[in-house]
Amino acid sequence: MASETAKPATGRDFIRDIIDAEIAAGRNTEVVTRFPPEPNGYLHIGHAKAIWLNFGVAQEYGGRCHLRFDDTDPTKEEQEYIDAIKRDVHWLGFDWGRHLHYASDYFDQLYDWAEHLIRAGKAYVDDLPVEEMRAMRGSLTEPGHNSPYRDRTVAENLDLFRRMRAGEFPNGARVLRAKIDMASGNMNLRDPVLYRILHAVHPRTGSKWCIYPTYDFAHGQSDAIEGVTHSLCSLEFEDHRPLYDWLIDNLPVPSRPRQYEFARLNIGYTVLSKRVLTQLVRHGHVTGWDDPRMPTLAGLRRRGVPAAAIRDFVRRAGIARARSVVDIAMFEHSIRELLNKIAPRRMAVLRPLKLRIDNYPFGANEELVAVNNPEDALAGTRPIRFGRELYIERDDFMEHPPKQFRRLAPGREVRLRYAYFITCREVVKNAVGEVVELICTYDPATRGGNAPDGRKVQSTLHWVAAAHAIPAEIRLYNPLFNRAEPDTGGDILTQLNPMSVEILTGSQVEPALGGAAAGEPLQFERQGYFCLDRQSAPDRLIFNRTVGLRDSWTKTRATGDQVVENI
Ligand code: ATP
Ligand code: MG
Repeated sequence: MASETAKPATGRDFIRDIIDAEIAAGRNTEVVTRFPPEPNGYLHIGHAKAIWLNFGVAQEYGGRCHLRFDDTDPTKEEQEYIDAIKRDVHWLGFDWGRHLHYASDYFDQLYDWAEHLIRAGKAYVDDLPVEEMRAMRGSLTEPGHNSPYRDRTVAENLDLFRRMRAGEFPNGARVLRAKIDMASGNMNLRDPVLYRILHAVHPRTGSKWCIYPTYDFAHGQSDAIEGVTHSLCSLEFEDHRPLYDWLIDNLPVPSRPRQYEFARLNIGYTVLSKRVLTQLVRHGHVTGWDDPRMPTLAGLRRRGVPAAAIRDFVRRAGIARARSVVDIAMFEHSIRELLNKIAPRRMAVLRPLKLRIDNYPFGANEELVAVNNPEDALAGTRPIRFGRELYIERDDFMEHPPKQFRRLAPGREVRLRYAYFITCREVVKNAVGEVVELICTYDPATRGGNAPDGRKVQSTLHWVAAAHAIPAEIRLYNPLFNRAEPDTGGDILTQLNPMSVEILTGSQVEPALGGAAAGEPLQFERQGYFCLDRQSAPDRLIFNRTVGLRDSWTKTRATGDQVVENI
């Protein structure tokens, strides 16, 4: 990982090498890219890679990047998604300026070009039912067969296509196909569909159209209309490139874009397929597109992941042609590295255990000083309240500790952060034998956390004062899936991690957290990075865990038992 951090912030990859070579050869004076989402769901972290690449490359070469909605299927697309995508691209730190476009802006032009192909004898209306058309396409090993409608005259094709447009036929009755080669080794060239009938209201064109271009027919031509020079897309479109080029070659387009493919981002224990994510949202397996367990930009934002950490991560993951799966630990590393620098430290007790200091005066309390961020001197300090009754973390105490456990135990002395040394004298239990309270004593001479006689303790615990702490709900998140590489073709529900969220309702946090703003990054000492959830209210604080301080998930998974940390 050390060598990766040494990479320049812009990244270096084969796409940039291609552009450099073009510039060196004097072939390209301008770099115009586009990010072309289909508004049928929210953006996820895989899209962040495509956004970072397209906008990043344009910025570096003094060009421009367009945001273009690929809105060619009104049965799946919604205004909500358009709005969310614009919000998320901006949040990620990129701006399309004047270049907000929609494939639907080009429907008239695309229609004219479809007629152009018909007139040139390069497209025809096919009446075959879908299943028959599919059967006649052949397979990777078998050539396809010509449709009986393939040799219609230009006049007949024009007439039928115009009537398709006029709404004379129901959905699925006919399609317009390119006339290329049913025996081609590339399935995409076996007379691909260019237009289909869809009687559906479009978010932008309303009911003007009842035929819509396919992705293949809209995409390259939209690039050409916009003057896009480098059409960067993920590898699954590699086999579509000959079709992309065929259409550009056979239409009077105003410019000649080129398509280049790169490998999609895949992350362990994560699914980056809009189809699957939509299924999780629709069927209530998550609370929505912005559920903090979702790999969507909206979910990550709500969880407290800063946009800069996502940019850093996709840069480190890099752009390559080979398919790979990135370890989720690498993403968490980018998050921690950034949050460590900027997140104010606070004390929060997730699972409280009461602790009474027997020799501390009744009714007294005092103010101590806590450092806001040891990584940032300018962050200053804050006062914290200490008193006779405190809460500490339940798992910071063990009545019968194993050897490696260095935290509080009967008879043992530990430090309370920024406060005093305390020693556990007595354990109070309830009727069923559970520890409910610890009776301790403190050493007043250790105020601030050090003993004048130089004696040492083996651990330092965080705490809050019972009289001043605020109750809070804390939501801990783990990966949504229980398999490193979820099988999106299989039953996705059986691969969901039943422990993807743990909700703690009885947590106690220091008073300063009452003033936290939603989304503001925070570090809860010894616990991890957190942020206030958008559902939080002044009388019901809710915090999301963004990420733990260490990669405890991988360790717990590997050993199958709880990690005991010596702090
Ligand atoms: P899905 O297959 O999940 O429906 P998609 O790729 O069809 O997603 P689009 O809205 O068409 O979703 O994606 C817009 C752009 O983002 C495309 O150019 C696509 O190549 C790119 N993209 C999508 N997912 C990833 C990913 N995991 N890594 C990199 N780029 C991606
Ligand atoms: Mg797509």
